[in-house]
Amino acid sequence: MRTAALAVLATLLVAFGLAAPFDSHTGGPWAVTVLAQDRQPAASTKPKLVVLISVDQMRGDYIDRFQHQWSKGLKRLVAEGAWFRQADFPYYNTVTCSGHASISTGTVPAVHGMVLNQWWERDNSRLVSCTDDDDAQLISYGGPVKGVGNSARNLMTTTLSDEMRIQSLAPRVVSISLKARSAINLGGHHPDAVIWLDEATGEWVTSTAFGQTTTPLFADYITKHPLRSEMGRVWDRSLPTDRYLYDGSAQGRQKTALVSKDFPHIVKGDGTEIAGAFTDAWESSPYSDAYLAGLAGAALDALKLGRGPGIDYLAISFSALDKVGHDFGQDSHEVQDVLIRLDRELGLLLDKLDRDVGKGTYVLGLTADHGVAPVPERVKAQGFDAGRINTATMGRQIDDVLVRELGPGAFRTRVIYNDIYFNTGVYAKLLQNATAMDAVIQTVLKTPGVARVYKKGELSAADPFTRASFLSHYDGRSGDLKMLGRPYWITSSSTSTHGTGHRYDTRVPMILFGAGVRKGEYLQPAMPIDLAPTLGFLSGVMLPDAMGRVLTEALVPR
Ligand SMILES: [Zn+2]
Repeated sequence: MRTAALAVLATLLVAFGLAAPFDSHTGGPWAVTVLAQDRQPAASTKPKLVVLISVDQMRGDYIDRFQHQWSKGLKRLVAEGAWFRQADFPYYNTVTCSGHASISTGTVPAVHGMVLNQWWERDNSRLVSCTDDDDAQLISYGGPVKGVGNSARNLMTTTLSDEMRIQSLAPRVVSISLKARSAINLGGHHPDAVIWLDEATGEWVTSTAFGQTTTPLFADYITKHPLRSEMGRVWDRSLPTDRYLYDGSAQGRQKTALVSKDFPHIVKGDGTEIAGAFTDAWESSPYSDAYLAGLAGAALDALKLGRGPGIDYLAISFSALDKVGHDFGQDSHEVQDVLIRLDRELGLLLDKLDRDVGKGTYVLGLTADHGVAPVPERVKAQGFDAGRINTATMGRQIDDVLVRELGPGAFRTRVIYNDIYFNTGVYAKLLQNATAMDAVIQTVLKTPGVARVYKKGELSAADPFTRASFLSHYDGRSGDLKMLGRPYWITSSSTSTHGTGHRYDTRVPMILFGAGVRKGEYLQPAMPIDLAPTLGFLSGVMLPDAMGRVLTEALVPR
């Protein structure tokens, strides 16, 4: 595995050498522009604690748009941290699993292998989630849970926290999220404690891949804060309505997990069961973020993170913004309110870290796994080309072409985001039959909203679009063909989505804060995959497959 990974890495490094828009080592029009900086004394010691925070679906431009609504943690991170204003993922499949794996490993899906949230597993003819592991079982903090276990088995390299364990002294590693794919990718292969929510049952869970039992540090918190007590909570705007941008109208709004399409929202699901509809609604409210912050506080207290013999690691992926962005869209008052409330939660967390670990003795990195596209109907209403790519119809039309060109057969083509998967053996036949291949490709291209389509053999570092596709491709897990949508076209029936690879999806916030960090606004291009190598550098740890760089311009000279 490692040899293959190195071969891919070598190819990718060549790709990055050609990758002018993603190359932040050179000068030119984007040359280093530090608008403000503090001359602080050199950090003489390593941090005691590394905190890695992901805000799921936070677009890079949300800081510019909404920071006037913030007064606590997010404001402090922007004002006192090193804020990279042009951080872009360099690959196309900007989805949660790929994003979190890239953030924690400092590399791209072509190397770490987490190409999508779910992909088509050809050997077993089934759809698998990126953290599925048949050899693992879920362990519940409450009642019984069903379903396949989870692990980092499909993550084909190590994370920052893994390398802290291998290279440094006895770190305690904790990772927390609503989603398995976020918690596990940030926590790595061997965290001390990793927790997520089982949506189907509303139980907090971990997996036998990480230990044989639950950990008391979370169990106590969960016992004292049962999800049932969250049922019926009312979510309304936390600031006067005129403090919110945009009209907040429901134009283009599709089905929402919360019962009402507008404020005030009642978080209740069916009003009885702590499962399914309730967890979906609760996850789509800011109260789920507050709960995750509570779990993080419990971990800090119970393990005395940052006060042990080594450098400890705490990761939190806040998931509410993703759910709310999918349901209400990027210009909704709901999105703004989730961030206003997250600002307060992060303020409390920073205060706690200052008090318990010590100001200037921990380092924090904040970023996101992806952004989100605008709601297509709202863009279209302004007269621009926008819409929804109907991937179900596309799959059926491809199957009709396959029957016509290859003869009768049980064809079942699947389209997952941009990846087009054929039944086993079909792609090999198409490679031998130029007429049939051309007919399939024309069918994809004729689908409204599609801009380009690539055969996997065509993916290379040759131009920016194919390079971004290439960095998303992992043989055996990715599709046979990859289509690229036009700007403002999405492949989902939810109000909006991400994974398009366009700038609104690739650009995310990236902030470093705390020990060893030089505050300021940094305008040169950077990537979220730079965060792990930089936090690793500060901690004296090297990431073996990282393609990101150490953000030296944001570090206090040693
Ligand atoms: Zn999402």
